[in-house]
Amino acid sequence: MSDGGTGIEALISLISRLPGLGPRSARRVVLMLLKKRTTLMAPLAQALSVVAQSARDCTLCGNISTDDMCDICTNTQRRSSGEICVVEDVADLWAMERGMAFQGCYHILGGTLSPLDGIGPEDLRIPDLVVRVEAGDIREVILALSATVDGQTTAHYVAESLEASQVRVTSLAQGVPIGGELDYLDDGTIKAALRARRPLF
Ligand SMILES: [Zn+2]
Repeated sequence: MSDGGTGIEALISLISRLPGLGPRSARRVVLMLLKKRTTLMAPLAQALSVVAQSARDCTLCGNISTDDMCDICTNTQRRSSGEICVVEDVADLWAMERGMAFQGCYHILGGTLSPLDGIGPEDLRIPDLVVRVEAGDIREVILALSATVDGQTTAHYVAESLEASQVRVTSLAQGVPIGGELDYLDDGTIKAALRARRPLF
């Protein structure tokens, strides 16, 4: 390599592992950072270091946060809505938030039930959800899980687990590719799917 310095090469190699970036764009990114060492590179390094050390799962919903509880869970207005939207992962939560259609709280399962991959209920945050619903003033649980077989199996399992609590369980409108694909939907579609939610059983 002609640019000299293994540190810079190592940086390029790390940056190229980010989504949407290959070696060529990584090189451009690093070159730009090097040109803006004080105004961009140093603050970025500082921010990365702070978040790397403090990032953890929200103890209530599983969202990624730099505190024990995330901004959504500490928002009393959202807590008092009595609505919990159940999603598979953080990307889905972020997609829902981007649409600004939902004003309640979330619960991240961490995946879907998948017997073939050996993923059972105890591997997901389903027991936590049951505890949460039974402990709090929850009016409605909205399931926003994938339209895949695993996603729908999980939705039914969650609904059954919540049966004893007598909470209202709904699901986002059918036919909408949600779950893993929630991130690719435009905000209007997410809003429409939320408005058209229906009881699961
Ligand atoms: Zn949270």
